[in-house]
Amino acid sequence: MASPSNKGKDIAEGSSSQPQPQPPQPQQPQSPSNPPALSWYESQKQQDWNTFCHYIRNQQPPVHISQCGSNQILDFLQYLNQFGKTKVHVHGCVFFGQVEPAGHCKCPLKQAWGSLDALIGRLREAYEKNGGLPERNPFASGGIRVFLTEVRDSQAKARGVPYKKRKQKKTNPMKNSHCFWKFCKLLKQKKVKQFKKKNLSF
Ligand SMILES: [Zn+2]
Repeated sequence: MASPSNKGKDIAEGSSSQPQPQPPQPQQPQSPSNPPALSWYESQKQQDWNTFCHYIRNQQPPVHISQCGSNQILDFLQYLNQFGKTKVHVHGCVFFGQVEPAGHCKCPLKQAWGSLDALIGRLREAYEKNGGLPERNPFASGGIRVFLTEVRDSQAKARGVPYKKRKQKKTNPMKNSHCFWKFCKLLKQKKVKQFKKKNLSF
């Protein structure tokens, strides 16, 4: 059985042109132990964190992670749009609201809401993993949440991708207070049948 450590060494040294075996290297008391392979999620999280830290360090003036707030995060998300691949139609575009536009337009490509949402989730974890306090986690702030919700809704409209509504198979008017009062009013007027016709179809 060939020793796997030797094999690994050969690959690492990468000197395929030399036929001679490598001399043993006694001066390696503790080869930096290979970290266990990270899951896709973990390595993506690390990569996102590095990108974000790099981004704020390159601001004018540079921002330290401890000073980081919603504004830097929102700027960062904005900055990422240039790498986006999701066409988001602007108001006035003939394809606004169309799922499958029948032609080209010059509307911008952006980061899809789902990507941003997942990114913020990873950064939120990375912040705490890197020593940030949960109660001061800027990625968990209300401002970011509101922003993401707005992006979600506006992209859904622009791209004609409606939010998957909860299954509303049998709408019980009694369950919905708004409908309930309407129901009562109509009940008095003995127009329940009409109400059912009108309201049970949504
Ligand atoms: Zn467009």
